[in-house]
This record gives sequence, C-alpha cells and structure tokens, in this order.
Amino acid sequence: MSKKEDLAKKLGYQRKNFWQTATETEKKGAMKFAEGYKDFISTAKTVRETVRYTEKVLKKNQFTPIESKKSSKKYYQAYREKNVIAAVIGKKPVSEGINIVSPHIDSPRVDLKQNPLYQDQPTQLGMMRTHYYGGIKKYQWMSTPLALHGVLVKKNGEIVNVSIGENDDDPIFMMPDLLPHLAAEQYRKKIGDAIDASQMNLIFNSIPYPDEKMKESVKLNALVILNEKYGITETDFLSAELELVPAGKARDSGIDRSLLVGYGHDDRVCAYTSLQALLKANPDNLNRTSLIFFSDKEEIGSEGNTGAKSAQFIDFISELLKKNGEKYDSYTVRKTLMKSQILSADVNAAINPNFPQVHEKENAVHIGFGVSITKYTGVRGKGGSNDAHPEFTSRLIHLLEKEKVNWQMGALGKVDQGGGGTIAKFLAAYGADVIDCGTGVIGMHAPYELISKADLYSTFRAFEVFFKKG
Ligand code: MN
Ligand code: MN
Repeated sequence: MSKKEDLAKKLGYQRKNFWQTATETEKKGAMKFAEGYKDFISTAKTVRETVRYTEKVLKKNQFTPIESKKSSKKYYQAYREKNVIAAVIGKKPVSEGINIVSPHIDSPRVDLKQNPLYQDQPTQLGMMRTHYYGGIKKYQWMSTPLALHGVLVKKNGEIVNVSIGENDDDPIFMMPDLLPHLAAEQYRKKIGDAIDASQMNLIFNSIPYPDEKMKESVKLNALVILNEKYGITETDFLSAELELVPAGKARDSGIDRSLLVGYGHDDRVCAYTSLQALLKANPDNLNRTSLIFFSDKEEIGSEGNTGAKSAQFIDFISELLKKNGEKYDSYTVRKTLMKSQILSADVNAAINPNFPQVHEKENAVHIGFGVSITKYTGVRGKGGSNDAHPEFTSRLIHLLEKEKVNWQMGALGKVDQGGGGTIAKFLAAYGADVIDCGTGVIGMHAPYELISKADLYSTFRAFEVFFKKG
C-alpha cells in the first residue's frame, strides 16, 4: 500500500463491502444464517404468526412468561397475540438501564373489508372487497398471487385461524389488473392514480350454488364452502382480521445466492435478527439487561394498544423490575428508561440501481455493505425525526467497528425527495437514547422486497454486540 493510500485509509470514512472484508467463516456464517431466516419469513407472514413463532422459540429457550409465578432471568410477554417483549436480565440491576432492540412486526398488506363478500354483476363472480394497510404502491399488488391469512372469532368465542395459499396444492387469489390492450385510459393517469382502491377486489369463486332461481348463488356457494371448511357465517367476517399477503416462500436471489427476495423484510428482518441476538445473551455473563420489543401497527402510525406508543411497554419494564426484586414505582421505571439505550430496529432504503437519482450516494445505504445506522429520518428538514445524539451515535459506530461488524451510515434518500419515519421518536419520548439501525432493503413495501444476506448477518451481529457490550 502506498503512503497516500495508507493515509486515505487512516483518515477517510469508507464503508466496507462484506464479501470483500469478511473472513471465510463469516461469509459461510452469513449464508447459513439466511437459511433460518428464510424459513421464518416464509412461515411468519402476519403479526400474529410472527408472535406465535417467537413465543414458541422463546419457550423452547427457557424464557418464562412474565405473568408466571416462577422466578427466572429470562422473561417474555406475548400481548394479545400482536406484540412480544422478551428480556434477559443482566448482572447489573435492571434499574441501571436496559439495552433494547425494537423492530416492528407488521408489514404492508391488503386487508379484507369487514363486509367483504359480494357477487359481481354481470360477471357472476364471487368477489372480496379490500382495504389496503400501510404505504403501498397499489398497482404492485395487482395480478400477483396472494394468500389469505388471518383470524375469525365465532359467536361462541372460538378462534378460527385461516391460511390459504401457502401450500403447493392450496388455491391462491388474485386482484386482476387491466390488460394493456384496453388500458388506453389507465395509461394516461398518473401512476399513483392508475389503480383506484375500489378496483382492488379479489376473485374468490365462480361456481354457483346449485339452484338456478337464487339471485346470488355464487356468493352463497362461497359461504357454503366456508361454512363447511371453517364453520363460519358471513357475520363472522364483520369482526375478523383477514389479510392478503404475497403467496409463497422467500427465495435466494442472484446467481451467487447472495441475496434474498421475500415478503415483509420490512421489518421482520429486524425481528428475526434481534430474536437470534437475544437468544445468544447469557444471563451469567451479560452485563446490562437486554430486551427486544416487537411492536405492531408501525406501518399505520404505531397506534393502538399493541403499537410502540402503548402502555404495555412501560408495564413490562415495571414487571421486570419487580421480578428482579427491585423497586418498580413510576419514578424507578422512568429513571430506568432514562438510562436505557434503544436501537429502533428498522429497515432502510438501499440504493436501487434502477433509480439511483433519489439517493445521495455518499449518505445512502449500499446493499452488501453491512447494517445501516440512521441518525435521523423525517421529511422536509428532518420533520418528525428523533435525530440521535452524537454521543450515542459515536459510541455505537465505534463499538461496531471494534467488534468488526460491517456497518454504514445510511440516510433514507435525497433531502426533500420524500421521507418517512420509524418508531424511534415514540421510544425516545421515554427518555432513552434512541437511534435507528437496521437492514438495507431494495424495493421496500413491494410484495417482494430484496435484501443481502451480508446485511442480514451484519444486522444480527450488530444486535448481538449491542446486547453484550453496548
Ligand atoms: Mn415500512
Ligand atoms: Mn419499517
């Protein structure tokens, strides 16, 4: 290396390509890690499925429900099957502060309306009306295979879990887009108006119930099939949560298999990586208490009693203090949070080579260059952003550097190009140090998103190091 190159290396900031800088063991580790993740996002496609999956893993790893009388160093709470908090108590008192990693487990999707089923005229098709959830480009969800997942609650309280379209021999569903031949008018529209939400109806069935005089016999036949299969009636839809998600499994992508295409990397990639990191935390040699908080409803503003703003998060902290034999009054809870540090674990937009103009490349996330640290998000002059303090930011990046985790600073896009937010600001309101940190995604919020196995692994390593040494 020339003196000039040496000096540039010493004085300059250079994000590092994982595949060029990682050891062979790490590269193999990244490939192997991706296998478990693929299974996870192919299985856990909804909030509830993610909660059930997580609860199963936590139980298997000797985590105790916080409501239980048993005393332990590892606790969890699965709340209303919509969010999960799990913690490993460290050697220091909990009240000395907690290292928290907090992803969200909801992803953009297309929900069924409460009264979804109708028979179309003149096609005589059984149809379902929908209401999309989160910020989607509506046209991307048309003419693509969809699976129906969700929960219905019957009059007697019995819960019916539905998952249709994931097994190879399951039927799938589609909301058909307009053929190009007859799209002259649609082509003249702005892309955002090309699909009206009222056109996002899926074809559910087409065979009529065998009675020619019945007016809506196709719809009736749908109800008969559903009643035979699940014992449900049309009224049961009114209270149900039924969601359309892209059908099928996550797959390796790229001829070198370095990438992953799947539904809902945003933000289940941070859920899986933080869960795996927490499982590595051993209470016998863990310094500070480590905690993961999987929140719901981030894509619609973190609202509701299972979102990041909910009382449950605070309640769990006080339960944890109580379980550890510490004071758990509101003063102690507040002080505990003031001493805590939180990674608001969420994905960020990596440069899409087809649309590089929306990024400023020196400040953007580059796929394959490691976990992204985002000091601030927001719109129009950082509006609505947490903007992490330099002390915490510096501590984090130097910790990752020291532990040889591939990391990069990553802003969402060019200034005034658009923007977005995360749960960082809601958690920061409790007084903790908070920064955004997560995996770069190409094509976020599309039915299929793309990530790098390098970044998946680097995200896991970042959380692992943060728990152990942060
Ligand atoms: Mn999102
Ligand atoms: Mn997100």
